Amino acid sequence: MKITVSVIKADVGGIGGHTRPSDALIEAVRKTVKNAGDLLIDHYIGYCGDDVHIVMSHTHGMDNDKIHKLAWDAFMAGTQVAKQEGLYGAGQDLLKDSFSGNVKGMGPGVAEMEFEERENEAFTVIAADKTEPGAFNYPIYRMFVDSLSNTGLIVNQSLASGVIINVMDVEAGKIAKLSLWEDKPTIEAALMYPGRYVVSTVTTKQGEPILAASTDRLHNIAGRYVGKDDPICLIRTQKNFPATEEVGSVFNNPHYVAGNTRGSHNMPLMPVKLNSAASINFCIPIVEALVFSMHHGKFTGPFDGFSTPDWDYIREIATKKALAMRSQGFIHPATLVPSELEYAEGYRVRMEVLETKMKPVEDYAAKSQKKENYEDPD
Ligand SMILES: [Mg+2]
Repeated sequence: MKITVSVIKADVGGIGGHTRPSDALIEAVRKTVKNAGDLLIDHYIGYCGDDVHIVMSHTHGMDNDKIHKLAWDAFMAGTQVAKQEGLYGAGQDLLKDSFSGNVKGMGPGVAEMEFEERENEAFTVIAADKTEPGAFNYPIYRMFVDSLSNTGLIVNQSLASGVIINVMDVEAGKIAKLSLWEDKPTIEAALMYPGRYVVSTVTTKQGEPILAASTDRLHNIAGRYVGKDDPICLIRTQKNFPATEEVGSVFNNPHYVAGNTRGSHNMPLMPVKLNSAASINFCIPIVEALVFSMHHGKFTGPFDGFSTPDWDYIREIATKKALAMRSQGFIHPATLVPSELEYAEGYRVRMEVLETKMKPVEDYAAKSQKKENYEDPD
């Protein structure tokens, strides 16, 4: 049976800042999706920080306008509540006034996959807040390329033969199809700079989908920066794919990612429990794991992937790394490079003031010429 799993997410308002959606906002989204009749087989709604995610199963394929419109309408309903409640950033991820066939390019993030459902279909949704799609470069690398992180790359026949990784240049809007293991150094070169190159999909060499990630960058869509495009990603697990624990464990070394307060800093990515609010400790970036089973499109779960006691220790590591980075304040690399700053305009104003105070340094060429003239009056 061919099933499509569509995960669509958006930030349409937070309580007192960029913390979490209100219960009434979530309820408005839920009510809209519930009223969809038989369009969906199943759905789940939750949130990661201030981002609401809708996980849907259906048989209408990817990029289906009815599915995308349902998510759009649900986020519009959430926005209405956010406005009534005076929530911060009400409707901030809905960049257009009306729906035009596909939510891609309109603000919400989308990760979708259509596949022949296995008897014991298993998948995990990874949702993150206060960061960008490139935040997944490092964990995805550990999952599919680094056998020190994933022994499955040695002992699983399918993974050992390598996968196809499609890498998107989010600035140019182009995708490169790269094949493991022959393109390994090229994949590494691309993943080195997560602000520009991100993994969009991973498939087996036979073309079976394993991973799909949201890759839109809001500041490119809107023409100016309107918020970090917090990413979401869908990963099928078990059998020919990474084991569920091979997917979860690649988040056990909280690496530094771009985002955080004012979308302008580098901080570690902290694994948290499902439906966690963003931290007001300078917005440490957070990531959740929604572990699902699916049969005939019906969900069981999600199990909360980062809820077991061992993850408390990882959260402690993330907190220590966050404090270490914050201890150097605004000095780069605690802050992002100017082109990545969410508050680029404010920074530009400061730079303009600086420029007015700049006086030319004495021309070294002229100075050395003068010296020459002195030594040789002719
Ligand atoms: Mg967010």
